[in-house]
Amino acid sequence: MTKHVPDKELYLKSDAEIALMRRAGHLLQRIIREVTETVQPGVTTLELDRLAFQRIKEAKAIPGFLGLYDFPNTLCISVNEEIVHGIPSRRKLVEGDIVSIDCGLILEDFFADTAYTVPVGRISQEAQRLLDVTRQSLYAGISAIRPGGRVGDIGAAVEKVVHAAGYHCTEGYTGHGVGRHLHEKPDVPNDSKRVGMRLQPGMTLAIEPMVNLGTSKTRKLKDDWTVVTADGSLSAHFEHTVAITRDGVEILTLDEELEKENKRHGAIVSA
Ligand code: MG
Ligand code: MG
Repeated sequence: MTKHVPDKELYLKSDAEIALMRRAGHLLQRIIREVTETVQPGVTTLELDRLAFQRIKEAKAIPGFLGLYDFPNTLCISVNEEIVHGIPSRRKLVEGDIVSIDCGLILEDFFADTAYTVPVGRISQEAQRLLDVTRQSLYAGISAIRPGGRVGDIGAAVEKVVHAAGYHCTEGYTGHGVGRHLHEKPDVPNDSKRVGMRLQPGMTLAIEPMVNLGTSKTRKLKDDWTVVTADGSLSAHFEHTVAITRDGVEILTLDEELEKENKRHGAIVSA
């Protein structure tokens, strides 16, 4: 989930707090892996939502999106031209769709937030390329984190990959700091327009490029949640929660199995 961040102070996490966020991140990766593995033609987006809800409850964690800003579900599920904040429904996924699954949970008072876009059965080459480029832009953003660098370095690296492919970063939506709240300071834009805050150990960030095939422009559906591309072109979304430590950067939501699968599809995997 992505929102403009209200004016809260920057809160740097201690090593102990990052350890808690790591636990939340690892739980979340296991759950999102099971959800993405369940994606196939004929499955409804509501079935995926229920699975995530059940697994989060079994782990004695709390769904991070459910009820937040009055969002009605556990997952944001956005299909094809839907970019983010799609509401799970009885819609059946069909072969050739791409489906973005965004999940947040709270474990021991700390949030983790991650998103993947996965194919439903066989997809077009164009759709696969969009998934590959969006995933690569996420890892480029993460790899741009340097001690003494700026938050804007992340967006600049994301944008470079996206523009080189001829695609568009979604206008008006950003990543964010994450921790005791889903949305904390700083905003993490997916463009090079702002220099941003200095990167420092203890920052925990949700980095989340949203990439569209045809335009950066969006509109919102009547449900007042679902954001779609203005031209109806496909969109993809990948997100990790990362921690900046004295040693560098750690992806708290990294799932080795899922990443291996991603790598087979030609993604760059760093960290
Ligand atoms: Mg998210
Ligand atoms: Mg997010």
